[in-house]
Amino acid sequence: MSYHISTKSVQEGYSPENGQPRVTPIIQSTTFRFDSSEHIGKLFDLEVGGHFYSRLSNPTVEVPEKKIAAMEGGVGAMCTSSGQSASLMAILNICECGDNIISSSAIYGGTYNLFAVTMKKFGIDVVFVDMDASSEELQKHFNDRTKAVFAETLANPALKVLDFEKFSTLAHNNGVPLIVDNTFATPVLCRPFEHGADIVVHSTTKYLDGHAVALGGAIVDAGKFNWNNGKFPMLTTPDSSYHGIVYTETFREAAYITKARVQLMRDMGNMMSPMNAFLLNLGMETVALRIEKHSANALEVAKFLQTNDKVAWVNYPGLEDNSQYKLAQKYLPDGASGVISFGLKGGRADATKFMDSLKLAAIVVHVADVRTCVLHPASTTHRQLTEEQLKECGIGSDLIRMSIGIEYAGDIIDDIKQALAQI
Ligand SMILES: *Cc1c(COP(=O)(O)O)cnc(C)c1O
Repeated sequence: MSYHISTKSVQEGYSPENGQPRVTPIIQSTTFRFDSSEHIGKLFDLEVGGHFYSRLSNPTVEVPEKKIAAMEGGVGAMCTSSGQSASLMAILNICECGDNIISSSAIYGGTYNLFAVTMKKFGIDVVFVDMDASSEELQKHFNDRTKAVFAETLANPALKVLDFEKFSTLAHNNGVPLIVDNTFATPVLCRPFEHGADIVVHSTTKYLDGHAVALGGAIVDAGKFNWNNGKFPMLTTPDSSYHGIVYTETFREAAYITKARVQLMRDMGNMMSPMNAFLLNLGMETVALRIEKHSANALEVAKFLQTNDKVAWVNYPGLEDNSQYKLAQKYLPDGASGVISFGLKGGRADATKFMDSLKLAAIVVHVADVRTCVLHPASTTHRQLTEEQLKECGIGSDLIRMSIGIEYAGDIIDDIKQALAQI
């Protein structure tokens, strides 16, 4: 039986048997007891399934993993300690020194740094491209060492909507997967696998948790990409660290996500903790409700801002006059999520004054939780970027990013009104 996304967010991942706890228990144990060494041997050889050490898998962490996989429509998922480690591992799973990927330049600042600086030190080159470039222009960046295309469904903080059709066609024509960061949309508003994506990554720290209590990330595998095209020997030839296992032969459509766990997670150890998995799962139970309210409130606030004469511009893909509106209608028909950005006529100086005058909305380095919050990216999350890089990411020095919470919209708007009156 295939349930609606709202039902999946509540029910998937854990089904207790007779007499077991109704709510996912927190299995705060690093290790598990077995009757025989022979059984553990089989677990190590991946001949039988089961948990044996929490760096690789844990019964509590498995709950949000199964839930996210079900919501995205994938064959499997792996939770990580943060969104950053999810992006890193999603790439490292298929890229080696000398390889390169093509990434949209309109991405989260942390991912941009990871790609532009740290990954380069690993010998993996990232070519940044303009999302609006034509397929012909984009095609010029591919070479025989290109291993993936990366983009965000709804870019943070540029709020550009991914043209899935263009990007997935391009990736597949070149025999590489499309990896999509679906953090801002969540699987409630957009399921990238339905639009040609092959791998999804999340910062679960944002809407999936939704309460700003637990860092986390996830990688989800659609199980549809054909790795057997000669480009991915790490999946199709024997792994010496697993006495010769060939992931695509043994794990078939789950080759990518299994390798990510049994090889990369084993070696790197950036696992999600059981406590954080419990909190994430609790948050996910209400994500469908929350994201609907976030989207409705954000649209109302964006429309209000458009009517105020101190506001120079408002960016929200749910606004009919927005450059992303058509793509949003196509890929985010149920709402454009809760983040808006805008600029004041007084620029950077007024931005600071406005933000300092807010009473309900707090200045925090975060987005996507139940409380309305505000941030000036150019002086915070993106401050390591040069003016030129900022422009590439679509961030002006006047840009205010506001993450609209699930409070009563009238109260959020009143707070903005009084803060605007201060400048
Ligand atoms: C926050 C964020 C990340 C990084 O996630 P962390 O959990 O903070 O490591 C990655 N991608 C997007 C779109 C984000 O908003």
